[in-house]
Amino acid sequence: MGLKRRRFLGLGGGILGGVGLSMIGHRLLADSAPVPTRGPAPSPLPEPVPSPVASPAPAGLFAPARGDVRIVVISDLNSQYGSTDYDPEVDQAIAFTPDWQPDLVLCGGDMVAGQSASLSRAQIEAMWAAFDQHVAAPLRRAQIPFGFTVGNHDASAAQSGGQYSFQQERDLAAAYWNASQHNPGLTFVDRAQFPFYYTFAQKNIFYLVWDASASRLSAEQLAWVERSLASEAAQSATLRIAIGHLPLYAVAVGRDRPGEILDDADRLRSLLERHRVHTYISGHHHAYFPGHRGSLQMLHAGAMGGGPRPLLNSNLAPFKTLTVVDVRLAEADTVYTTYDLRTWQVVDQQTLPRLVVGPNGWILRRDVEEANLSAAERAAAGLTP
Ligand SMILES: [Zn+2]
Repeated sequence: MGLKRRRFLGLGGGILGGVGLSMIGHRLLADSAPVPTRGPAPSPLPEPVPSPVASPAPAGLFAPARGDVRIVVISDLNSQYGSTDYDPEVDQAIAFTPDWQPDLVLCGGDMVAGQSASLSRAQIEAMWAAFDQHVAAPLRRAQIPFGFTVGNHDASAAQSGGQYSFQQERDLAAAYWNASQHNPGLTFVDRAQFPFYYTFAQKNIFYLVWDASASRLSAEQLAWVERSLASEAAQSATLRIAIGHLPLYAVAVGRDRPGEILDDADRLRSLLERHRVHTYISGHHHAYFPGHRGSLQMLHAGAMGGGPRPLLNSNLAPFKTLTVVDVRLAEADTVYTTYDLRTWQVVDQQTLPRLVVGPNGWILRRDVEEANLSAAERAAAGLTP
């Protein structure tokens, strides 16, 4: 219990906004918080107690050194349309997750398998119930906050004639996430449009979630993004992280076309850069690529469910992944440890392409700088020699 309690206290400052969790939190704090030697009860809450384990990880797996903040990034969990089951890799990953002792799990979307007009209300509700059973409930039991962005298969924002094409799926996704028993344990800054777009904060990191379940962000949403990122809460944080389902630039074969990437990617990137967003995390392409362009890091999360895809500019066979992100706050630095779900071995970044060129732009592997591109690479990216 001692380890569990210390870990929970470490998270406590971040999740007391949650209803169910806050009750547990108060109970734990009441019997284990340090007694102040003078004055009134301390406020804010006590500083997080560091984990006594420097490199927590599931037994037998590579154990990265823990950062000040540890995030487990998962994405694209679903199987075929209407499915109420998950691939074994998903269940294994969720079972492993508490052993990394993360502060947060972030999910890049496609948690269920909708986006089909033939699915009934009962079928969609059954999918969310299965998601709860396989993914959300085990993480709640482990007291791990869950941040997520909706994908096109969860709650597509695609429109036709000024109406959402999948209004029922959006309504049922909102109903699932707004039910008090499904509290994701986040400290919200702005949850007015939850679960579609919202912000939360934890351990000096500000998280912005946008609804990139379709390729166009509405003018209303973009105005909200600007306001949110310019806010005191965002700018006074040590680091800002944004997450949405579609990436800015293509990384996967078959997804390198309009509709599968965000419209106006360069403009969105400059918006994120202007507000000093450190990293944009995305899913949808089902291919892991740790990229960067300009001052923005871009973590393209691989799939855990069906249909991993090959990377552009690569001969590697497709593979499913999960990424542990360790954040060092003082250095504003992140370290990725990405596991190949076939073997649970760590993916060697050097095996990934140095440069990915898609229809709307190019991105570099995170350890490659533009100045170090070869003449052939510069030509492929359309850069002057
Ligand atoms: Zn998707």
